[in-house]
Amino acid sequence: MSDYMFVLESHLDAAQNKTVAEMQRIATEAGMNVWLTGGAMRDVLRGSAIRDLDFTVERDAVKLGKSLAQALKGNVLSEDSAKRSVELDLPGGVRASVSNARTEKYSKPGGKPQIAPATIHDDLLRRDFTINAIALSLNRGSRGLLIDPANGQADLINRELRATNPYIFFDDPSRIFRLIRFQHMLGFQISPRAQSQLENALLEGYQTAASPRSLAVEIRALSGDANAVAALEALDSNGLLKSLSPALTGANLNTAGLTRFEKALHSVIPAGTPGGWLAFLTVLTEKLNPRESGDLLKAFELSRPEADGLKNLEAKAKKLESVLKSARIHKPSQVYEILETASVDEVLMVLYNSAQRVVQDRIRAFYHKYLPQAQEITEEQVAATGVKPGTPKFDKAYRNLVTAHLNARPRKIAPPEPEPAPAAAGTTPMAMARNGRK
Ligand code: ATP
Ligand code: MG
Repeated sequence: MSDYMFVLESHLDAAQNKTVAEMQRIATEAGMNVWLTGGAMRDVLRGSAIRDLDFTVERDAVKLGKSLAQALKGNVLSEDSAKRSVELDLPGGVRASVSNARTEKYSKPGGKPQIAPATIHDDLLRRDFTINAIALSLNRGSRGLLIDPANGQADLINRELRATNPYIFFDDPSRIFRLIRFQHMLGFQISPRAQSQLENALLEGYQTAASPRSLAVEIRALSGDANAVAALEALDSNGLLKSLSPALTGANLNTAGLTRFEKALHSVIPAGTPGGWLAFLTVLTEKLNPRESGDLLKAFELSRPEADGLKNLEAKAKKLESVLKSARIHKPSQVYEILETASVDEVLMVLYNSAQRVVQDRIRAFYHKYLPQAQEITEEQVAATGVKPGTPKFDKAYRNLVTAHLNARPRKIAPPEPEPAPAAAGTTPMAMARNGRK
């Protein structure tokens, strides 16, 4: 039997582990039961990185969520009073949600559900797909116990998307968008039964009752994924993008541009690097006129900093490109310094638009060579220069060490010792290797 607490810890980064530990501490203190659920459990069990931590609580989730944010010095991003759920932004780039275990009863597609408190078991069964309906207990008496009422683990092994019940699309048609997102993001098959449920839902037109906002949320979630374009094409071919923008269809979807963008993103930027959403939006709206693009962007409900960032992105990318192609750049440390402070969105726009080989090469060298080399410098090495950690002098010493490390010429390999006596032709190690002999 797997030790799921061990599996969990080994898949979370340091900040996520700290969040889970703190959640366990404050829930125990408050005498509340808490589980890790949703995508976090799905991704732990399939052995991949976790995007956000979804906690479910059998009592007051809002209170617990706010205590967690306070304890970790994070922020509450939003609160849903009907679902008694909060979204949190926590240190170390950790995103988390804390929600009450609940049931939801719908009287018409896309209608407002009647919400009632429930056990974790019933909460799991009101979810969308079986692979998202697994919970891990973080409670003292049962820590590490897995609850999997719909046998989502079997579907994870079979790589299949199966609905938790026959009414999922009637109840909440936004699950149509989620199904297509997961199909492409995870590369899973849709089970035959879920496929016929989907076809019936589309025939009945349930999708028209889904909010454009829910579609925008799913597009944002898939934007950085390796199969984002395929997912967008699937949404388009089912006529599902219309609610977001009637203009975003066919050639206007810019799949050629998005494919080029996707290639640049995944071949150059290391996986897991945050950012890129604004560059994705820029490419997505490239073929639309200003009014169409403005309408579409409104549906994405960008935050103020995002909206400002988007407005300035192309100008900043142009500036970055011109700095990067400068003939005054001779050393790796110069490339490193320029790109270290640039945003991933700017870099992606340069990769997308620039026809300059030198610019493309410098960006590649930064991510594949200079950045990993700079990360080799340890705090101990800096402290060994005699400066105190946490001081401006420490930062300066760190920068100096990075610069020296990046600009150091690779050490020459020592010339081979002279042979004591001339060897016969074809018997030197090089010649033997050339002849395919050992
Ligand atoms: P991601 O890894 O992208 O966050 P996710 O499945 O965790 O994927 P979230 O939006 O974070 O997506 O939702 C958390 C969990 O809440 C889901 O795994 C699922 O169990 C449940 N859920 C979310 N949206 C719905 C929905 N529309 N209908 C039913 N269950 C949902
Ligand atoms: Mg999630």
